[in-house]
Amino acid sequence: MQLKVYNTLTRKKEDFVPINDREVRMYSCGPTVYKYAHIGNLRAYVFMDELRRVLEYDGYKVKSVMNITDVGHLVSDADDGEDKMTKSAVETGRTPLEIADFYTAQFMKDIDALNIKRPTVCPKATDNIGEMIAVVKSLLEKGYAYETEDGIYFSVEKFPEYGKLSGISLDDQRHGARVEVNSFKRHPADFALWKKAAPNHLQQWDSPWGKGFPGWHIECTAMSKKYLGETFDIHTGGVDHIPIHHENEIAQAECWLGHKAVNYWMHSEFMLIDGGKMSKSLGNTYTVTDLVNKGYSPVVFRYFCLNVQYRQKINFTWEGMEAAKTAYGKLCSLLLAHKNSAADTDAQTIAQFTEKFEEAINDDLNVPLAIGVLWTMLKLPKSHSVYEAALKFDKVFALDFDKIKQEKQQIQVPEQVRELAERRKIARSNKDWAESDRLRGEINALGYVIKDTPDGYEITK
Ligand code: AMP
Ligand code: ZN
Repeated sequence: MQLKVYNTLTRKKEDFVPINDREVRMYSCGPTVYKYAHIGNLRAYVFMDELRRVLEYDGYKVKSVMNITDVGHLVSDADDGEDKMTKSAVETGRTPLEIADFYTAQFMKDIDALNIKRPTVCPKATDNIGEMIAVVKSLLEKGYAYETEDGIYFSVEKFPEYGKLSGISLDDQRHGARVEVNSFKRHPADFALWKKAAPNHLQQWDSPWGKGFPGWHIECTAMSKKYLGETFDIHTGGVDHIPIHHENEIAQAECWLGHKAVNYWMHSEFMLIDGGKMSKSLGNTYTVTDLVNKGYSPVVFRYFCLNVQYRQKINFTWEGMEAAKTAYGKLCSLLLAHKNSAADTDAQTIAQFTEKFEEAINDDLNVPLAIGVLWTMLKLPKSHSVYEAALKFDKVFALDFDKIKQEKQQIQVPEQVRELAERRKIARSNKDWAESDRLRGEINALGYVIKDTPDGYEITK
């Protein structure tokens, strides 16, 4: 089935056609590792993962790259403000490397818990400083950048297409600019490719321009080219990246390479909390651990995210989480009932549901619609083939449908039945098949079924 995706660059839903026949190369802007990821950040990575899973479901081999920003980029996306890594280092008395390692490990734990597949490569910015310096050098040589007292800047006026992603022209950018904070810049939208460091700056490297550190945007251009080549298929990020970070990536990459670098730009919308912004001052930047502490498993949060298409804002509320928990629980018990059924549904009916599911996911990742298809399918009379089809859908949802067995063992089995099952286990280990069969009969008579499994037995009603 033809996958369609919304391309921010063309502002249209387009047929997705990869550069190489059955292979897709995608790049996602990764976390800045100076703090825990909050649930809004994680929504962006659930989207990244859904995209990859849909591509894989469609039979593509996916090479996915997500950078780890472990070098200070500035507090705002533009070139002002404090260096986040340095700020965190100073506040905690640790080195930037210690901070980055700690929060990278936490981030990996979070994405594992949310069933987000780890990208094929997660390069760290600090391992690629040489590559970034090479791009900056080349941009200077080609006349797209200039040196000032405090760094090397990209000159946006040298790239007439600047603004094509966000649709904000350079003139509008100039008029909309705040009071100029950096008098060295020729245009307010010019951005730092390299910053010269003060002697006490914690993270700094040798460069042709003295000691310094890279600007934020350059890392994505240097690393995407290194791992994915000069032109690749898809670049993802949150919508906040459109007007500055990705606009800058496009400008520097196209000027450096002499052609376009990315075919499809895809952006996920923001998560709101109680209808408003997430912010530290409001104390509502929740983490995965906060959710778990309140009794919500990470997979319930994933289910919550999947119920809103990635281009729509999603509003997080605790009531919403509670509703997601209830719905997910119901989904699991329905799945379990289908799993335990020995009946079958005719192949044509299953094929019809599968087709509807595939139509939904291939329509710019309409995962909420695909979940709707699943719910309708689960209303069919109980049958194992429905469970099998749901397992196939779960390659995209990643909601642990294959693990439902564990919950099954948590069904209320009366003590008497458990005892009979344990006695039967002993009989079987003694190869006393007659006793084992007799005990099975007793269990059945009490209304339960026992099935032997590689790791013991399973009891169902
Ligand atoms: P950062 O670590 O700040 O660079 O952000 C990591 C990712 O999270 C980026 O793709 C952002 O676009 C995304 N992001 C940040 N805040 C939110 C939010 N409230 N909702 C959804 N995505 C967000
Ligand atoms: Zn980036």
